[in-house]
Amino acid sequence: MIKIIKNGNVITMDEERKRIEKLDIVIKDDTIVEVTEKYDGSYDEIIDATGKIVMPGLINAHTHLGMSYFRATNDNLTLQKWLNDMIWPLEDKLDDEDNYYGTLLSIIEMIKTGTTCANDMYFNCAGALKALNETKFRCMFTRTLMDSDQKGHEKIDEFIKLYEENKYNKLLSFAVAPHALYTCNHEYLTECSELATNLNLPVHFHYCENKAEIEGTLEQYNKSPLSVLIDTGLINNKLILAHATFIDDDSLEYFKGKDVSFVHNPVSNLNLGCGIADIVKYKKYVNVALGTDGQGSGNNLNMFYHMSFVDLLQKGKYEDPTVFSSYDVLKMATINGAKALGLEREIGSIKSGKKADIIMLDMNDSLTSPGTDVITNVVHNAYNNVDMTMINGEILMKDKKLCLDINEEKLINKIKEVIYSLS
Ligand SMILES: [Zn+2]
Repeated sequence: MIKIIKNGNVITMDEERKRIEKLDIVIKDDTIVEVTEKYDGSYDEIIDATGKIVMPGLINAHTHLGMSYFRATNDNLTLQKWLNDMIWPLEDKLDDEDNYYGTLLSIIEMIKTGTTCANDMYFNCAGALKALNETKFRCMFTRTLMDSDQKGHEKIDEFIKLYEENKYNKLLSFAVAPHALYTCNHEYLTECSELATNLNLPVHFHYCENKAEIEGTLEQYNKSPLSVLIDTGLINNKLILAHATFIDDDSLEYFKGKDVSFVHNPVSNLNLGCGIADIVKYKKYVNVALGTDGQGSGNNLNMFYHMSFVDLLQKGKYEDPTVFSSYDVLKMATINGAKALGLEREIGSIKSGKKADIIMLDMNDSLTSPGTDVITNVVHNAYNNVDMTMINGEILMKDKKLCLDINEEKLINKIKEVIYSLS
């Protein structure tokens, strides 16, 4: 099956090309086989991209897909109060079926807003897995590990089973995910580290999200967060550190050259009053990707909304518009996300040999025209402009209509029924 996306204004995110070019993209089954100025060969299906923007699907490098139930529940609460008093007691009441519906809603939100891969961290995994498989959505998947309830080993066993049963699923990759330093202990983190090393998987966890967490780590472990990473062996694994809102210079020097990625979640950090991460500085030391966190703290999974914050915050923080660019943000949301997940050979840019995770934007409306600086317009204004989403060569949305057998109205009613019954 050959598909071509013809005559689009393509932002490939391929460093070897110009930032935007008029190109045809040829896709054979699930793979991009040619990116060329003009394709005259045969094809089975043509997607006319004339006048539209074509770019790699966005990669949400830190989220909790089941948290659609908690959209916008964080007003006026600190991270610790929000988790302890609101989220965790409610999450205790959710089951696999609830998580199926919650994850399904998140997947629809991502497809509609151009995200084609997510790094998920949650529980009730059978439900999430059903939603991912039904929609053919690409995901780095896991089971959150924590030992604060002394049931940490059951969770590790659950993760190993999940991994063994699904490791050959082409749309899934896996990470070992201890929730955070404050929900685990030294011994448990060491076990997580050994598990990741044995399975050759990355470790994904929340790290230095706010100052209270760092102070809590000093109290709990009697050592700095970096020393915990070193002494538990976690540092020897590929690390995906979500948040990293406050990282000192010594840690940055230590991380330099190691396989460490930070995932910036600007909206979540602002909502919970955690602070503003110094991305301008961080990107000189480590790979920095972009995440939304769950909808509870991140408001939504629309990466275009979150991209705009990254750029504005850094320019404002430094009182200097030259320190960051819209293109830097696009890198975080595409190729840097792929690097963070260890998938840079497969996704993150439009290039021959990569998987066909591609989105198309129609920017010909009154809210985004004229948009002569295309990349800045995309990063700051394209909240509602994705009109085609393709994952692994399959079109999941076309002309802004989902190509999935899902009754959205019924799904929304179901979600409301569940959350109102809990609270
Ligand atoms: Zn999170």
